[in-house]
Amino acid sequence: MKYKAFTKKNMDQIKQLALLPQEARDRMTAVAEVLPFKTNNYVVEKLIDWSNIPDDPIFQLTFPQPEMLPEEKLRMITAAVKSGNSELIKMQAHSIRMEMNPQPAGQLELNVPREKDRLLNGIQHKYSETVLFFPEQGQTCHAYCTYCFRWAQFIGIEELKMASKETDVLIDYIEKHPEVTDLLITGGDPMFMRTKLVRRYIEPLLKRKPGNLQTIRIGTKALSYWPYRFTEDQDAADLLDLFREITDSGMNLSIMAHFTHLREMETQEAADAITAVKATGAVIRCQSPILKHINDDAGMWARMWKKQVKMGLVPYYMFAARDTGPKSYFTLTLDESYRIFSKAIRQVSGLARTVRGPSMSTKSGKILVDGISEINGEMFYALKFIQAREPQLVNKVFYAEYDPDAAWITDLKPAFDTDRRFFKGQKSDIEFLLPCRTGMDSDASAQKNCC
Ligand SMILES: *Cc1c(COP(=O)(O)O)cnc(C)c1O
Ligand code: SF4
Repeated sequence: MKYKAFTKKNMDQIKQLALLPQEARDRMTAVAEVLPFKTNNYVVEKLIDWSNIPDDPIFQLTFPQPEMLPEEKLRMITAAVKSGNSELIKMQAHSIRMEMNPQPAGQLELNVPREKDRLLNGIQHKYSETVLFFPEQGQTCHAYCTYCFRWAQFIGIEELKMASKETDVLIDYIEKHPEVTDLLITGGDPMFMRTKLVRRYIEPLLKRKPGNLQTIRIGTKALSYWPYRFTEDQDAADLLDLFREITDSGMNLSIMAHFTHLREMETQEAADAITAVKATGAVIRCQSPILKHINDDAGMWARMWKKQVKMGLVPYYMFAARDTGPKSYFTLTLDESYRIFSKAIRQVSGLARTVRGPSMSTKSGKILVDGISEINGEMFYALKFIQAREPQLVNKVFYAEYDPDAAWITDLKPAFDTDRRFFKGQKSDIEFLLPCRTGMDSDASAQKNCC
């Protein structure tokens, strides 16, 4: 299949959209003026079940939905689009966007290392053992998830971009930090880059091979959005060769695959791509946020994890989506996410219980909702740091008062005085974030939690 992207400019070429009433199409076009929209012919033809729109989870995954904007904003932008006044459209789209904070707090200021007063752009280092790297040309994706917080990168707000061409600076940095064992190459989706370019980043690493580096991770959603990247694309074979060169060098290659829904794993194309990647000696680990309208279904998660194990993949993370969204379009409460996770995990064998979740990526670390406990007639959330900026906090359990409406750490109150310190410093995060669009992670990583 030859890659064809659809954006707001050529949305009308998606003939399946004719299935929607005109009014719904108008609203969709209007939302696409504000939120970045991009999908492709594989997603449209092979993943979306067009007999089930708008409810289809994959449709929800890449197509803008009217409820993603506050009603009054939606009315404003729809009217502007109808007027055909491109200046007005631009102005309104910009002002709506500015009210939806594009970059979760703390990420840029806190995680970008400095050297002699120079910010090392394109590098983020939050957790001691893992360095993130954002190759400049990998800051886009084969399609855009509607819930992605990285939209600043996609609409080209220059100063918010995080990127770098400087692999040498990266390697210097890794060598100077012996505690680093993992490099996570992320984006956007680094697998959007042509192999030639990926080589330019990886080959110096293989040549200089910092002694402390043992794993290269690549975050990607290409197995879902464009599996041909690993099979029939012109430079797919060369990419697989490169993967093999990494594993042959004695390093561990971990593909951090973003699978949001079982459907994405069910096509022959995805199966072929997975087989090809595994044959290089790479390990595929799977992660996704949990989201209303897309994957808030325990049975689906259980079947997806089972399928991952059956295919030799490792279930890794389920992320809580933070409550930053357009009227909480995607947000589930912590209580709901925890119950879905628990119900799903009960249905799978221990081999699929490598997955951890629901996990919130907060300023201070990844915090797992580990349990809802009743103690002396009172209810509590048992929370646990599974990753932390302060290494001593890793594996630390603490408690919050049970609140069925809470969706994020900042909605929670410490249960006991001794728990108070774990909530400190989180608050400013949410103030900065409140009018923002849902993201799956305050961090650039996982997330992508994904990629
Ligand atoms: C999740 C994450 C990592 C990786 O953490 P692991 O628990 O080792 O998978 C690294 N950096 C950031 C900023 C993250 O959010
Ligand atoms: S979640 Fe990942 S694949 Fe989806 S748009 Fe964001 S960066 Fe791209």
